[in-house]
Formats: sequence, C-alpha cells, structure tokens
Amino acid sequence: MMHRGERSAEVVVVGAGLAGLMAARHLRSFGVDVLVLEARSRVGGRTWSILAGDGQTVIDMGGQWIGPTQKRLAKLAAELGVTTFPTYDVGQNIQYIDGERHTYSGAIPLIDPKVTMEVVQTMLTLNMMAHEVPLDAPWTAPNAAEWDAQTLETWIAANVKTQGARELLAIAIRAIFCAEPRDLSLLHVLFYTHSAGSLNDLVGVTRGAQEQRFHAGAQAISNGMAAALGERVIRNAPVYAVAQDDAGVRVMAEEVTVSAKAAIIALPPVLAGRIRYSPALPALRDQLTQRMPMGTVYKIHCIYPTPFWREAGLSGQVTNYRGVAATVFDNSPASGTPGVLLVFVEGDEARAWSTRSANERRAAVLGDLGHYFGEQAAQPTEYIEQFWAAEEYSRGCYAGYMPPGVWSAFGPALRAPVGRLFWAGTETATEWNGYMDGALQSGERAANEALALLGIRAAGPASDQVMG
Ligand SMILES: Cc1cc2nc3c(=O)[nH]c(=O)nc-3n(C[C@H](O)[C@H](O)[C@H](O)COP(=O)(O)OP(=O)(O)OC[C@H]3O[C@@H](n4cnc5c(N)ncnc54)[C@H](O)[C@@H]3O)c2cc1C
Repeated sequence: MMHRGERSAEVVVVGAGLAGLMAARHLRSFGVDVLVLEARSRVGGRTWSILAGDGQTVIDMGGQWIGPTQKRLAKLAAELGVTTFPTYDVGQNIQYIDGERHTYSGAIPLIDPKVTMEVVQTMLTLNMMAHEVPLDAPWTAPNAAEWDAQTLETWIAANVKTQGARELLAIAIRAIFCAEPRDLSLLHVLFYTHSAGSLNDLVGVTRGAQEQRFHAGAQAISNGMAAALGERVIRNAPVYAVAQDDAGVRVMAEEVTVSAKAAIIALPPVLAGRIRYSPALPALRDQLTQRMPMGTVYKIHCIYPTPFWREAGLSGQVTNYRGVAATVFDNSPASGTPGVLLVFVEGDEARAWSTRSANERRAAVLGDLGHYFGEQAAQPTEYIEQFWAAEEYSRGCYAGYMPPGVWSAFGPALRAPVGRLFWAGTETATEWNGYMDGALQSGERAANEALALLGIRAAGPASDQVMG
C-alpha cells in the first residue's frame, strides 16, 4: 500500500466531507501540497448517495437539497458538472392532526385561520430577532444573555398562545434541527435562522432550502472534488491523535502518520473531541466539543412503481404533530419513476424508536403512510432506512447544535485556531450553518487561515483550475 506509513505534506486535512475536501481543493488552487485523511472507505461524510434495488434510482441517504441562496454549493456543483432538478412541489400538502387528515396548499397549513395567523406572526418575530444576532459572534447580540439562557420551548410557551401554532412551530423546529424545542438555545435557533436568511428560507421548498436536488445525488460533489485530488485523499484512515510543536504537526491515523506545517480538522465538534491532542487543547475548546450534540433522525425511503399520490393531486408533502413519520416529501427522481416517498423520523420519536426493532419501525412508518396516502403507500416495493446517530463517524445529524449557555460561554472557541490547528466543518459556518453550503464556506475559511500560517495570502489563487 503505497500511501500508508510515514507521509508528509504542507497541510494535512482530517475528514473528507464537503468541508475537508473544499479546504484541500482551495489549498491546491494555491499550489499547496496537501493530504486528506478520511476514516470511512468513502468520501462525502454526511452526504452519501446509493442506488436503489433497480440499480438506477439515486437515493440520498444524507444531505440532498440545495436552495436558491446557497451560492457556494451551486458554483461548485456547476464546476463539477453536477446538475440539479426541482423538488416535486405541485398539488395539495397533507397535515395530519390527531387522526384527521387535512389538505392545504402553500407553505403554512391554513386549517385554522387563528393558528395560521399566529404562526406567520411568530415566524416574523423570530426572523426579526434573528437579524439582531451577529453571525460571526452570536454571543455579542444585544439580547444574547437573555436569549441564550432559555430554550426555544420556554420562549414558545411564553410567547405563542394557540396550541396549534405551538405544535406547528415544534414540527418545523424538529424538521430543521432533528432535535426538540427544549433541546435548543433560543440564541442558537436565532443564529441558525439568520445564517440561512430566515425561517421561511429554512422550511421552504420552492424558493427555500428544499428547492432542488442533484440528479447524481449530493455525494457526487464530494466524489468530484476527491477525483481531482486523486491520491491526495487517503481513505480508511481514522485519525486518533494530533500532536503539534514549534516545527509542525503530526497527525496519526491507523496505518498512516502525516507530518505537516498545519492541520485542518474538518469534523463536527463531537468527533473532533474524540481525537487525542498533544499538547491538550485549551480548556474552552475541549469543553466546547463536549457541548455540541448532534441531532437525531432516521431518513427513510419507500419506493413504489409510480408516484401514485400525484394522480390524486397530492404533493407527497406531509406534516404530522405526533406520528412516527413526522415529515414526508416526494423524493422521486427527475423522471418521476419510480415513485419515492421520503420520511423523516425526528428528535424524540427517533430516539424512542431507536430502541425498537427494524421491523417494528417499518410497520409504524408504513402505517402512518397508509393513513396519509391510502393502503398503496403501506406496500412499497423497497424500504431503505438510514440512522445517522448510529454512524461512528457522524454520531448524528443534520448538524451539531448549541443547548442553552454554550454560545455565551464557549462560542469564541468554535473557530479560534489552536497553534497550527484550524477548525472546519459546517458547524463552524456563518452562512448556511448546518448545511452543505456552510460546510464549503468553512473549508475555504480554514484553508485561508492555513495559507496565512504558510505565509501565502492576499494574492489570488494561482489558477482557477484545481491541480490534482
Ligand atoms: C440525513 C441528512 C439530511 C441532510 N439534508 C441536508 C440537505 O438537504 N441540504 C443540506 O445542505 N444539508 C443537509 N444535511 C447536512 C449536510 O449533509 C452537512 O451539513 C454536510 O454534509 C457536512 O459536511 P462536513 O464536511 O462539515 O461534515 P461531514 O460530512 O460530517 O464530514 C466529516 C468527515 O470526517 C470523517 N471523519 C470523522 N471522524 C474522523 C476521524 N477521526 N479521522 C478521519 N476522518 C474522520 C467522516 O467520515 C466524514 O467524512 C443533511 C445531513 C443528513 C445526515
């Protein structure tokens, strides 16, 4: 194995997700000698595209959607020739409340006008509060202390009157964070909202974060970057220790050790915290990695010969206050065949169902789909379940989030370099934090920090072409 053993580079990157690969790509554009160490046998991290049993239909087990303001991702996809198509967003959506099925069109259910009014008003209020949160330093917001001392749940309890609006907001929050409103600092929810633009950007399909998908699957973007980097990406190399001194860094993975001038750790904080650092990290940074849990979600695909719900005038989109299948989308390929329903089981539901058998979960999910779309929906030809919380090299998703108090006490440690170590990963992004676009921003920013350490700055990239 030629690339095992002792290696050296100018910069070593840990993690070949979008952040790590983008960092390496950016460094290569300046001619920097770089190596990327990836724990898994594949690149892409929280994006992973497989083929369904028909050998043709692309199934995104992880991240998949791109929204209109996610410009970095769009630019990179275009460079790599990874094309997009619109998410199916035609027809009536379903809201399922306490055993009753309601249909509506538009982003917000219009079942009870009082509830709708309050949801719209609350979203406006939260959007306005969000814009008071500085993206690079949320803890400096004028009301940061007050907002970081409470959860979104306590804020909703104090500020939202109708039960329906409370439930709808909770559904949206679970869908965005894969966590419960009680888990999240209000300040974090506001930061995240601002980082995406607004709550409308976060929850929207057309004109929102769920607007388009990639024909080849989202992992194609990481695969494209990895192909350009060639043998500079070393797979099956879980990093377990990082040492640094005045002369450089040594990054130790199973069967390979890399010496370099700088390291970019492109992992979510909970995974970065599993590495042994020598000397030990500053306490604030180490304790930050103890305080940014990952969300909990099952991503489930149900495949049918056709998207039969479309003929019934349904979009395939569902929200359910209390069901297992809390959120559903039409995830059929661009051609429309086969029909694919995408189910998310989120937050507490995912936690509770993780202790049950796969068969029990499947029965519960299909039972819900039967209620939403009729008996046909309970009989898919294929059923594919992915649980990211059980993945050793992800530990949950979509992203790490901040419980109360963390931004205030530990926020400054999120991106602050530690000697020769620089931190990337979507959790460190200021725009589209938690998303693929944010991962790319973070990779580029960390690469620029490493360039500065190498004494390369100011001058633009040596070439727009990425050198292999
Ligand atoms: C189910 C799901 C749905 C999502 N939906 C969307 C969506 O629709 N749109 C969107 O924009 N985003 C979505 N996301 C989020 C998006 O996928 C992530 O924000 C993004 O992929 C994160 O990239 P990253 O490079 O920061 O981290 P990661 O992708 O987590 O990359 C970290 C890499 O480091 C590797 N690694 C871990 N530990 C080690 C170690 N010790 N040594 C070496 N390597 C290590 C991992 O294997 C991984 O490859 C979703 C995520 C999931 C899981």
